[in-house]
Amino acid sequence: MPHFVDTSPAGECIFCRLAAREIPSAIVHEDDLTIAFMDIGQVNPGHVLVATRRHADNLLELTDAEAAAVMQTARHIALAAQKAFPSAGLTLLQANGAEGGQTVRHFHMHVVPRHANDGIELTWPRKEPGAAVLADYALKLKSALALPPAPSKD
Ligand code: 5GP
Ligand code: ZN
Repeated sequence: MPHFVDTSPAGECIFCRLAAREIPSAIVHEDDLTIAFMDIGQVNPGHVLVATRRHADNLLELTDAEAAAVMQTARHIALAAQKAFPSAGLTLLQANGAEGGQTVRHFHMHVVPRHANDGIELTWPRKEPGAAVLADYALKLKSALALPPAPSKD
């Protein structure tokens, strides 16, 4: 779990204040639904955050339109990063909740150019529970998908 988590309320969090120009940042792109700016930490040169313009704590609070817009902006930033900071690889990372590694509670996606041995690590303990368990998990998720959708803010 991260040591620091910004728990400021909607409208007062770091990224709301950044979008409102109340705190300085290096903005790369803005549109009606998204804002993209340089991550202050720059894990690798060209490390950009794509955030929703509206405050949403996390992925679960996005509208479908915001979710689509975020991925579109992330792709445009990725294409630009390939030109400005050519890299062998590129990672998109999006964390939700402190347990998921999220430190700023305003939805954002990292776009990170990647290089061999750049020190970024995400440990991924495989369980491989077998086909029967996979089928059971899939059934549970298909049942959940069939439930009425959550009220949309679109
Ligand atoms: P998370 O850990 O929530 O996925 O990512 C939060 C990111 O926000 C971190 O990579 C951190 O460097 C970045 N960040 C935190 N505060 C600021 C800030 O004031 N300005 C900018 N540009 N980035 C920030
Ligand atoms: Zn916010």
